[in-house]
Amino acid sequence: MQRAGGSAQGLVHGRPGSQDEPCRGRLARRRRDVARDNASSMQAFAFDRQTLPLPAGHRFPAGKYRLLRERLAGRPGLRLTQAPPASDGELALAHTPAYVSAVVEGHLDAVQQREIGFPWSPEMVERSRHSVGATIAAARAALGEGIGVNLGGGTHHATADKGAGYCVFNDTAVAARLMQAEWHRARRRAHPSLLRIAVIDLDVHQGNGTASIFRDDDSVFTLSIHAARNFPFRKEPSDLDVDLPDGCRDDAYLDALDGALAELWRRHHAAPPGLIFYLAGADPHEGDRLGRLKLSAAGLVERDRRVLAAARERGIPVALSMAGGYGRDIDVTVQLQVATVEAAWASWRQWNNAQP
Ligand SMILES: [Zn+2]
Repeated sequence: MQRAGGSAQGLVHGRPGSQDEPCRGRLARRRRDVARDNASSMQAFAFDRQTLPLPAGHRFPAGKYRLLRERLAGRPGLRLTQAPPASDGELALAHTPAYVSAVVEGHLDAVQQREIGFPWSPEMVERSRHSVGATIAAARAALGEGIGVNLGGGTHHATADKGAGYCVFNDTAVAARLMQAEWHRARRRAHPSLLRIAVIDLDVHQGNGTASIFRDDDSVFTLSIHAARNFPFRKEPSDLDVDLPDGCRDDAYLDALDGALAELWRRHHAAPPGLIFYLAGADPHEGDRLGRLKLSAAGLVERDRRVLAAARERGIPVALSMAGGYGRDIDVTVQLQVATVEAAWASWRQWNNAQP
């Protein structure tokens, strides 16, 4: 992309008919190649350059984000970009200004930091901003091309005024509100309309923060399928909650998913959502330290396929985030997330009618 920008500048300064002519041909070809590559590739956004300093022995697997990006780098059909940071104003679409400034200026007290699970640092702030920025970018890409991916995000335990469970800001909530604002601004003259949103949260932990933020907002539907006996122990009612018993396996899980999706479409019969945020947590996997379910890798792939197919059949764009994954072997978690990105890409190709 940067090279294409340089090419355009070269053309502006080149003199027609001069020795720049062969160069112009090359540059035009390169621009065509970039355009062709962009037209046949799905956008995914990373933020692993923003590191998270943690004390030795900390349980959060911060390294998985870099591993995931490295595992996907160079794959044909995928445009990997480092995400921009979310601004204070964007964060304040879903969080109280007091909480945003407590995080940004480093005024979180010891209890708040313990609840988040990370010690405060300037790097933590930057990383959290970029994680939200990645979901915003994925949502914009989805609205343009059917699917966009954040290689992290899904920090669904953060409420309007506090963080919890490794979640500083609620990326889904911020991006949902921002997409609604941008949608309204773009259409307010010609066709004033509301962007209805559905959050399909399949992380193994309940999406309590997202449910809390959208509790009184009919324009955002929250669905959470999770392990009943898992964190958070005080759950916040979503629009639709499905509590699963410990040890739930593929068949029972997929039946529960089919039932929940049917209920989601039933409730949106008159006004379907215009955008879905899909939190594709890897932590329902049988090898997860913090999940309590027993889904296989194949079961998770089938889960992703069903969600993405149901959205695509209805013409609803999907912004996908990775959410949780705490495998006893972190390589297994990364491989599960690679499979989720591959499922997204397969759906993207069908959405865009691209050749495999
Ligand atoms: Zn989780």
